[in-house]
Amino acid sequence: MVVSKNGIYVNFAPMSSVIIRIVNAARVLWVAPVSVFALPLLPLALWRGKWRVNNGVLEIVSPALSWFLQGPWFRAMSGGTGFAAATMGHVIVARDSGCMDRCRVHEHVHVRQCERWGALFPLAYVSAGLYAAWRARRWSAYYWDNQFEREARAAENLPV
Ligand SMILES: [Zn+2]
Repeated sequence: MVVSKNGIYVNFAPMSSVIIRIVNAARVLWVAPVSVFALPLLPLALWRGKWRVNNGVLEIVSPALSWFLQGPWFRAMSGGTGFAAATMGHVIVARDSGCMDRCRVHEHVHVRQCERWGALFPLAYVSAGLYAAWRARRWSAYYWDNQFEREARAAENLPV
């Protein structure tokens, strides 16, 4: 028996641990084409990096990742100081542990979105962003009005 967030009781037939492992492996493989986008960040994640697996997701913080997330490429997109955290498939990177804690709910929504869309997620995200920017006639809407970001921000206001 599982209680969902909105309090509805849902009955599932008990799954054997073998089936659960197969489902989890399939989930990782399905998202792998997006998770590999994190590979180029590996050198930044090594020096003084903190790694942990949380709910099937690799969470990494490091000083070099902090520098990367505050770079002009992200400042242009966010219209502010860059990003506190970012998600690539089953990998979340953040500036530091505090940012990871504050962003965890939001970023795990992006993980679920990746699991929904699989390899098509980057294309879907960019398309949604371009559509939002075109509708609003301003570039910052790419991020702020992007449907995937709106869904993630909405989740932050829910009890977890
Ligand atoms: Zn986001």
